[in-house]
Amino acid sequence: MNIGILGGGQLARMLALAGHPLGANFTVLDPAKDACAKAVANHVVSAYDDRCGLKQFSELVDIVTYEFENIPAESVSFLKGEVPVYPSSDALAVSRDRLIEKSLFRELGIQTPDFVAINTADDLPGALKSIGFPAVLKSRTLGYDGKGQVVLNSTEDIENSFERLGSVPCILEAFVPFTREISVIAARSRNGETVFYPVSENTHKKGILHLSVCKTDDPMQSVAQEYCKSLLDKLNYVGVLALELFDAGGKLLANEIAPRVHNSGHWTIEGAQTSQFENHLRAVLGLPLGDASARGHCAMVNFVGHTADLEKVLKIPGAHLHNYQKKSRPGRKVGHATILTSSEDMFNTSLNELLALT
Ligand code: AMP
Repeated sequence: MNIGILGGGQLARMLALAGHPLGANFTVLDPAKDACAKAVANHVVSAYDDRCGLKQFSELVDIVTYEFENIPAESVSFLKGEVPVYPSSDALAVSRDRLIEKSLFRELGIQTPDFVAINTADDLPGALKSIGFPAVLKSRTLGYDGKGQVVLNSTEDIENSFERLGSVPCILEAFVPFTREISVIAARSRNGETVFYPVSENTHKKGILHLSVCKTDDPMQSVAQEYCKSLLDKLNYVGVLALELFDAGGKLLANEIAPRVHNSGHWTIEGAQTSQFENHLRAVLGLPLGDASARGHCAMVNFVGHTADLEKVLKIPGAHLHNYQKKSRPGRKVGHATILTSSEDMFNTSLNELLALT
């Protein structure tokens, strides 16, 4: 079995690392010559919209999945004509466009911040009357890690805000004074079998995920899971899907979905009975899913810009290091570490030691 992955970054690398024990081989398609998944997979160096590269890739693989959602729709439909592709292009289309995504939330009765479509700068004053200040203006497509958005606190902030985002179609959202951010990750197989991981509580630094803590008894688990299930079933989804939510003092509001394995689920590598990477592969291959429960107290800390000292991390009880072998660069995720312990006290001590290294 040769599994093709669109994108050759760390998510593809961790998918391949999880799939080798199942007897799978991997081929990634990525335009970057130094894509970090190439250490554990064949690598087709090609642009995502290059028909020759896509054709060559499709001839090497039995099935295609992806590690990020900004793949041109035409490329996915071309590949679909050659080999099975999971998850479906419907899920990609939803996650790629914030207006379609939030409209789907609304249609399914999933609470989400109030929002209005903004097509020109002239739409803003009227929209702000209904949404109110503060509000967040976001480009409908290509935003990530807080990029492609601007917070509007008062009428003075309106000027040039639309232009600053490139004068592209946007949505205006109510700013949510959330108490915390959480995500729920699920895997759904080809036959509809579904498992949910315990929610992760996520903290960001400069818009980039810093820390995810697995919450095994979270009061929001059932609502988050219910929201996620309605999306999975509506999209007839196959694979791992992450739903990010704001917890505004006990009221959950959906922010966005990621139709792929997710950074907030990296703790599952050591921390869950079956990792999100293995369950994604099991789901797309139509195999039985594995238990998604936690093995203990666990968390994940990202290394951004540069990785931490190997020896210092490994000295921490319960710590495991994942170095993606990527070149150091400010703002770049180059690795992460997880903590897994059986006691809560040891967890808190180890996590504090790990955080001190970042
Ligand atoms: P996003 O690109 O939508 O995931 O947003 C990146 C980050 O910006 C989120 O993780 C939040 O911390 C913050 N954010 C996004 N939308 C809102 C909102 N409507 N209200 C408050 N904070 C937000």
